[in-house]
Amino acid sequence: MPLTRRSWAEPFKIKVVEPVRLTTAGQRAKALTEAGYNTFLLRSRDVYIDLLTDSGTSAMSDRQWAGMMLGDEAYAGSENYYHLEAAVQKAYGYRHVIPTHQGRGAEHLLSRVLIKPGDVIPGNMYFTTTRLHQEMAGGTFHDAVIAEAHDPASTHPFKGNFDLEKLESILRDHPGRVPYISAAATVNMAGGQPISLENLTHVRALADRHKTRVILDATRVAENAYFLQQREPGQQGRPIRAIVRDLCALTDGCTMSAKKDPLANIGGFIGINDSTVADEISNLVVVFEGLHTYGGMAGRDMEAVAIGIEESLEDDHIRARVGQVEYLGEKLRAWRIPIVLPIGGHGIYLDARAFLPHIPQSQYPAQALAAALYLDSGVRAMERGAVSAGRDPLTGAERFPKLELVRLTIPRRVYTQAHMDVTAESVYCVYEERDKVRGLQMTFEPRFLRFFQARFTPVNS
Ligand SMILES: *Cc1c(COP(=O)(O)O)cnc(C)c1O
Repeated sequence: MPLTRRSWAEPFKIKVVEPVRLTTAGQRAKALTEAGYNTFLLRSRDVYIDLLTDSGTSAMSDRQWAGMMLGDEAYAGSENYYHLEAAVQKAYGYRHVIPTHQGRGAEHLLSRVLIKPGDVIPGNMYFTTTRLHQEMAGGTFHDAVIAEAHDPASTHPFKGNFDLEKLESILRDHPGRVPYISAAATVNMAGGQPISLENLTHVRALADRHKTRVILDATRVAENAYFLQQREPGQQGRPIRAIVRDLCALTDGCTMSAKKDPLANIGGFIGINDSTVADEISNLVVVFEGLHTYGGMAGRDMEAVAIGIEESLEDDHIRARVGQVEYLGEKLRAWRIPIVLPIGGHGIYLDARAFLPHIPQSQYPAQALAAALYLDSGVRAMERGAVSAGRDPLTGAERFPKLELVRLTIPRRVYTQAHMDVTAESVYCVYEERDKVRGLQMTFEPRFLRFFQARFTPVNS
């Protein structure tokens, strides 16, 4: 019989390998106890398949590694800075480029320059570090994402879209107090969900009408563009590169974590069109990050980012990247394991409420699920629920978000299809035994971004 279809394969072959260690159940139980049931506190040597994050965990290409040897480690005016600047201008179209050590460095500087105490920043769902820097600058974040984004079962194709009426009412209620609209592509906390070009076009129009800016969280803008190429009327067949340019063109600037889309292990930048704002940030970067031509990065890292930006926009790359995430997600879906739909760009999000209905949210079901998964197989995932949401800065009360999720985040170009199979099988085994998973109580709570360093112990049942 003639074959009517063919599978896709990764558009690369493997040149260097890094061994991973299989552990015993006893070793994992000991490691998890020592880590206070927080996967962020595990040692990486105790992890088999590391799906904690896609941040800085990408495999660099031979071209990027070759670029590392071309690091110009001059304190000022490094050649690599000019490569990075040109790559950002070409790919995203922003006029001025200020390098930072990673995404939160960019968020810090941008928030400090644009936000005044009492300001309000509307956005399509919060992100942990983004919101914290807005709050530390004296601002308040207001969620204006569509309601479907908070519903893990909704299959809305653009769950990253703004609720335009909600956004407009925030703008109307706070005249002159909205320094910018914070637009993320994709929306990490909703499960890596895209915002459509059409929606962002309306956001732009609202910003113009209310004389404010739009700042893009561009960390996964290429993945966002891929979904638009697949789903948005008029975008089919257009190159990822062109869709990314169109998304960026609707905004006034961006913060970027080069540890995500741009395939680097460290780095970030601000892209901004306004020269006055650029000058202010350029001055502040010297205080907090480093000179404006390196911003906390080594020359070699800037070169790796510049090359990675180019590679991240290749259609073959992004199709395989998101395709691998979809492969894992479809497997879990076939087994009726509750995951956030549609499948997002950088990971699979398990719906911990539906997975562990016997654990109340005050006992951190997502944290407990991530711990159970590690115990089962050594697969490391991350909590994205009540622990990540933290406390209200004014009342000090815990925030209990609708979404109580565990993220299985897929590093770019790192794992094979067999790793995805093992991961899916482990999730399945934990699901079969889900009644045995117990809730957690917090025994140590740090003041900022508590999910990184909090410690837990199982509650007595
Ligand atoms: C990772 C991330 C950031 C922060 O970037 P870092 O490089 O980790 O500091 C900001 N926004 C989003 C959506 C992210 O995923």
